[in-house]
Amino acid sequence: MSALARLHRPATVEEAVRLLAGGDGERTRLLAGGATLVAMLNAGLVDPAELVSLAAVDELRGIGTLPDGGLRIGAMTRHRETAADVRLAGTLAVLREAAARIANPVVRNMGTIGGSISFADPAADYPPALVAADAAVEIAGPQGRRRVPAREFFVDWYATALGPNEMVTAILLAPRAPGLGSYDKLYRVAGDYAIVSVALSVAWRDGACARAGLAVGGCGPRPLHLDEADELLRAGRLGAQAARRAGELLAAAADPLDDVRASAAYRRRVIPRMVERALAAARDELSRTA
Ligand SMILES: Cc1cc2nc3c(=O)[nH]c(=O)nc-3n(C[C@H](O)[C@H](O)[C@H](O)COP(=O)(O)OP(=O)(O)OC[C@H]3O[C@@H](n4cnc5c(N)ncnc54)[C@H](O)[C@@H]3O)c2cc1C
Repeated sequence: MSALARLHRPATVEEAVRLLAGGDGERTRLLAGGATLVAMLNAGLVDPAELVSLAAVDELRGIGTLPDGGLRIGAMTRHRETAADVRLAGTLAVLREAAARIANPVVRNMGTIGGSISFADPAADYPPALVAADAAVEIAGPQGRRRVPAREFFVDWYATALGPNEMVTAILLAPRAPGLGSYDKLYRVAGDYAIVSVALSVAWRDGACARAGLAVGGCGPRPLHLDEADELLRAGRLGAQAARRAGELLAAAADPLDDVRASAAYRRRVIPRMVERALAAARDELSRTA
């Protein structure tokens, strides 16, 4: 870290945005949990002149219930808190399961949901879960607040819909519906990022599938999601044939890289198997509980 980096501790979102806007572009950085940023500072990958810590902004902390029964997860909510919140059940359980699969207890104690999705690592666990649950991201900037569907928030490798001097303030979730959410992650060693991950959120009403959300992580610049695959699963009542076809469609649409964890070809082969496994588990669970 530059010896001259100045640390700011704003008390409000508006103050944080003002500090960002008054700073020197890339050299002014928000600091959330520090899990990623401090590692980058230590490795000399970034050299900020000013750090804007979000630690004292009350509004960004914790998980609250919205007037419509939905949930608002503040940007500074730690992965550990999200993994433990029993309100993330039914269709929303996908998010709790994804949080519980991030790295290890140390990272889950440090890292925040706002920091994770802003960094937008294509192998991170929250992005596909938020896309499957059809969440929205609340953003604050010099022009005020706006909301972006998670399906539009992740735009490219490590790139999001955040504009200059904007920050993530919260994740917004519609009220949970009866059904289920699940998150499966294939990794080389426990605690590692995903080679491939599959996030599923299914609303189940009167013996029929009312809504299905399926997303794949680790297989391209952003979470892989196809409306067509969701619709196949819904219309096919999550059946084995629909699951197979949805998996094939997603594998064909994937744009994975060869990297230290796995080859692109391996990732493409794994996607349909993981999708079928997630759907088989969902059918089992629903036949026991619905
Ligand atoms: C050893 C290790 C293993 C990990 N394994 C996994 C894993 O398996 N799965 C996984 O998903 N993640 C993993 N992570 C990442 C981890 O989840 C981090 O918590 C996350 O990437 C960053 O969150 P943070 O709160 O620490 O953000 P910080 O490190 O403080 O910030 C990260 C970046 O986001 C920006 N930022 C922070 N908050 C905001 C905001 N509210 N609005 C806009 N920009 C913001 C910062 O300026 C910075 O550029 C791992 C990290 C480490 C160090």
